[in-house]
Amino acid sequence: MTTIRYKSPDYYQVDELLTEEHKLIRSAIRDWVNRAVIPIIDEANQKHEFSAHLVKELGEIGAFGPYIPVEYGGSGMDQISYGLIMQELERGDSAIRSMASVQSSLVMYPIYKYGSEEQRRKYLPKLATGEMIGAFGLTEPNHGSDPGGMLSHFTDEGDHYLLNGTKMWITNAPICHVSVVWAKDETGTVKGLIIDRGMEGFATPETYRKWSLRASSTGELVFDNVKVPKENLLPGVKGLKGPLSCLSSARYGIAWGVIGAAMDCYDTALQYSLERIQFGKPIAAFQLTQKKLAEMLTEITKAQLLIWRLGVLRNDDRATPAQISMAKRNNVKMALDVARESRQILGAMGITGDFPIMRHMMNLESVITYEGTHDVHLLITGNDITGENAFS
Ligand SMILES: Cc1cc2nc3c(=O)[nH]c(=O)nc-3n(C[C@H](O)[C@H](O)[C@H](O)COP(=O)(O)OP(=O)(O)OC[C@H]3O[C@@H](n4cnc5c(N)ncnc54)[C@H](O)[C@@H]3O)c2cc1C
Repeated sequence: MTTIRYKSPDYYQVDELLTEEHKLIRSAIRDWVNRAVIPIIDEANQKHEFSAHLVKELGEIGAFGPYIPVEYGGSGMDQISYGLIMQELERGDSAIRSMASVQSSLVMYPIYKYGSEEQRRKYLPKLATGEMIGAFGLTEPNHGSDPGGMLSHFTDEGDHYLLNGTKMWITNAPICHVSVVWAKDETGTVKGLIIDRGMEGFATPETYRKWSLRASSTGELVFDNVKVPKENLLPGVKGLKGPLSCLSSARYGIAWGVIGAAMDCYDTALQYSLERIQFGKPIAAFQLTQKKLAEMLTEITKAQLLIWRLGVLRNDDRATPAQISMAKRNNVKMALDVARESRQILGAMGITGDFPIMRHMMNLESVITYEGTHDVHLLITGNDITGENAFS
């Protein structure tokens, strides 16, 4: 019902800030989501299933590495196009956007930015088409918000490295062909390694029983004396700034993406409120419903303007990690609040799979935690404002 009638809100004519190319890209992704995602996504969620058949299609529509140069298989688009793609994918489901975010910003980006020319040629074109699926291993069982404390490590064994450790909560882990893994060398310096499926001692057990991102494949990356060829080290980066720069790119995409989920919830609630009759009139006619709708649209509009400006700054390579933190924190919380308010407008119907709201709401509980929790992003902003580190 919502699929066919979906109308994305644009209260401040933000569309006028977009180019014709931006709008064409958005429209192509929106059509694909209507066709390929909306009809199957509720069932995939109910069954806790990743829809593997969508991967190649995501490659075909240019969702993998949109801003990676064409010579490496990307689409060479700007940052606003990347954001709009994330927005449309997340209108479908955060799981689909997460898959594309990881592939683009956490796997293709580090290989492009820090990889050797050989690594770029070997992996990027296949990741762009979806022939290869990538994963990004930073979080560990005992180190989430403080990745600097990671225990995964590797030693130099002459002609290869020997990698040990466990990464947890890794998107795409069970289905990945390749993963970019961050581990410490013998001096305690964090470095990136490209791990291919099939390396002996490497396992990717799946994480089951999630109530959130149920259509996404999540798991562990377990390394038990894995022999890693030396050419699989990312030569261009040392230290935590490697993974953190990837996270900046992914967080930027998230700050766009969640607007898509919020718009879907808002639009569903608006339509429902105009049709649902109680006490002899549409519930949209009650002041309390109007308060919810008005506040939701205000917050969506503010988020649209915030992210558009951040996109302009990113196109100029001027956006700081702290600015990205502010947008990720604000927009994810906004989307979660919109989902919760929309759910109320639908009453009991809001908890069913007939409408997308509960699914978005549950997904957003992950999105507000991963790629830096809501509170951690607040501390990043606090640190940026005051110069005082309140993390530890
Ligand atoms: C579905 C899903 C997919 C994910 N995909 C990936 C992936 O692909 N790759 C990857 O590497 N990781 C991934 N993650 C992991 C994610 O990034 C971490 O969950 C996140 O960084 C938080 O770590 P944690 O869960 O260990 O929480 P913790 O760090 O244990 O935090 C728990 C609570 O303590 C608070 N806290 C922590 N430190 C402080 C502090 N200094 N001050 C105040 N409060 C603090 C946090 O805000 C939070 O509320 C994924 C997670 C989920 C749920």
